[in-house]
Amino acid sequence: MSYDVTLIPGDGIGPEVVDAAIHVLEATGVDFDFEEVIAGKQAMDVFGTPLPEETLASIRKNKIALKGPVTTPVGTGFRSVNVGLRQALDLYANLRPAKSFQGVPSRYQDVDLVVVRENTEGLYCGIEKIDEKRARAESVNLITRKASQRIVRFAFEYARSEGRKRVTAVHKANILKATGGLFLEVAGEVASDHSDIEFNDRIVDNMAMQLVKDPSQFDVIVTTNLFGDILSDLCAGLVGGLGLAPSANIGESSAVFEPVHGSAPKHAGKNKINPTATILSAVLMLRHIGERKAAELVTSAVQLVLAEGKTVTYDLGGRASTSEMADAIISKMDESR
Ligand code: NAD
Repeated sequence: MSYDVTLIPGDGIGPEVVDAAIHVLEATGVDFDFEEVIAGKQAMDVFGTPLPEETLASIRKNKIALKGPVTTPVGTGFRSVNVGLRQALDLYANLRPAKSFQGVPSRYQDVDLVVVRENTEGLYCGIEKIDEKRARAESVNLITRKASQRIVRFAFEYARSEGRKRVTAVHKANILKATGGLFLEVAGEVASDHSDIEFNDRIVDNMAMQLVKDPSQFDVIVTTNLFGDILSDLCAGLVGGLGLAPSANIGESSAVFEPVHGSAPKHAGKNKINPTATILSAVLMLRHIGERKAAELVTSAVQLVLAEGKTVTYDLGGRASTSEMADAIISKMDESR
């Protein structure tokens, strides 16, 4: 059996890390048929839009996609492809695991948590305006009962299926009484339907401090779009940086897997960036399609390469190139078969 997968290499360092992940996926022995499509500036030049219908149609058809980062112009220019993709395909759950790796220098050695970020509304809903004089700007923080219910349910179901013990809802309900208040109210209601899983909540500023002080308090964290974006980068920092942080964007009918990091334009084309975040995103994809054995094979190989610390990229104190690190992971996979 072969899996049809949409491939969006992205730009900047995207094509390099996606290429590394494809080599690793091919080495698992699972059969993939990749359908390559474009997004971002590349698509703007060809189709006049950063997110062409062809790209969305491919993901709708194949139901799974592996994606590299795509550059978003800052302050002006086209809207984020990432936000657009998540909204167009209703990929409402953004799953961002953060787990310590042996051999990776970091503040803590025992971090094992997952951020579940609402991906379709909040301050990223796209309703914003600025007046002609550029003197006043507003962005709408849209929170609905429906989207809050489904993301908190997702977090509890995920906790159950992965044997996790606690869900923490993160909000700012003390100040944002309407939006934060609604999210917290719904989280409490959903929690009462899942009494087998412990539930608590934290105000986001305190949460940032608590995560840095003692991340072992947390297991599954569920939160709104902006807070999830920021806190998940913080969590990536707790386990060794963005080069190691994978993510999955999951909806009812399709899912897109991509590293948490961006297109890091200053490193593009140098074959030096860490491919692990994208390789681990491919692992999330393997788990999603039920190829758990292949997922374990890749995970163990990544862990071995990181623990040895010999063939790792610059961000982990090594001198290996992107492709050398991917090859080292593939060698470990071959050795363990
Ligand atoms: P970035 O994640 O691209 O890079 C920040 C820094 O983190 C880099 O300079 C580098 O030092 C480090 N880094 C990132 N990935 C790394 C890796 N794999 N290995 C080693 N070090 C790594 O963040 P940015 O500079 O804020 O954003 C650049 C562009 O990427 C922006 O246009 C932004 O909108 C876009 N972006 C896209 C996505 C996405 O496509 N999902 C996500 C975030 C940012």
